Amino acid sequence: VEGLEVALVEPFTIATGVISAARNVLVKVKLSDGTVGIGEASPCGPSGGETMETTVAAVRGMVELVQGRDARDWRTIAKRLHGDFEHQEAARAVVEFAVLDALTRHWKIPLYVFFGAANDRIETDITIPISEPAHMAELARKYAERGASTIKVKVGKDRDEDVNRVVAIAAAAPRCGLIVDGNQGYSPSIAVDFARLLHARNIRPILFEQPVHRHDLDGMRFVTERCGFPVAADEALHTAADALRIVRMGAANVLNVKLMKSGVAEALDIAAIARAAHVDLMIGCMSESRLGIAMSVHLAAGVGGFRYIDLDAPMFLTQDPFTGGYEQDGYWYSLGKVTQGLGVEPRTR
Ligand code: MN
Repeated sequence: VEGLEVALVEPFTIATGVISAARNVLVKVKLSDGTVGIGEASPCGPSGGETMETTVAAVRGMVELVQGRDARDWRTIAKRLHGDFEHQEAARAVVEFAVLDALTRHWKIPLYVFFGAANDRIETDITIPISEPAHMAELARKYAERGASTIKVKVGKDRDEDVNRVVAIAAAAPRCGLIVDGNQGYSPSIAVDFARLLHARNIRPILFEQPVHRHDLDGMRFVTERCGFPVAADEALHTAADALRIVRMGAANVLNVKLMKSGVAEALDIAAIARAAHVDLMIGCMSESRLGIAMSVHLAAGVGGFRYIDLDAPMFLTQDPFTGGYEQDGYWYSLGKVTQGLGVEPRTR
């Protein structure tokens, strides 16, 4: 286990703060036959309370739970990790990633095939962080010209300025679907006001992510019942139990799964709850580079049924420390050329 730091192209501002570099963690596992699996965590403090340092320390503590175990029994490994490290979500996830990469390399099948091979390609949106409306509009124009079909806009700072930002983006990229992401920044009533102001300007986002604080499910339901477009739970959703509670309450219409919040076994349980409850699924990311994103691409494509795909993080990094994992064409990721595991290799300098 080691740290992996990659700078961002420009600082990325959302309602909960600013980041300028991805402070990630690389994990390798080796099977008894010599097969090596790799995984990348991108811990996110405001969402899960983890850092590069806590993740490295937690993964070190997990070694004794993994060493000598049969990788085919990865669900028991995941359960043991959950037992001792419940709140170290990114750390648990990255150990699962490396074990599953090793296992499917050993079996010589791609990970998306292991997950069910529902699809072999998916299309991501692209995110515009909070900034001046003119700069945000310029980015929107550029992304639309490059073929983006969905643009995600970070909001949750100030109701009226946020409306101006979304209006500028909608004018610059009129054919793109818009997702607005509050990142917990609004009160329930301000979130509803924000939605009404957009309606009044004939702007209808396809999704409104996490408008209110993650612990305020009643407030999220208040917004869901009044805002007029679908609401997604993001920071409020980590576990399958969270998913069940959100669905039962009618607190949101969409569940935004991120492997950094849930790990693999739990993400599959959340997907099952969404299917059973007929709520839509989204997959999102933190600041993963190619290696970490590849895991989410394999899972979303292989499992299928993810209506909203937000796996754009590598596009904001100044470097790509890895090769393979997927082929990218515009905003489409294709897995057809992956022959085993994640298919990701470190870039050799
Ligand atoms: Mn979000």
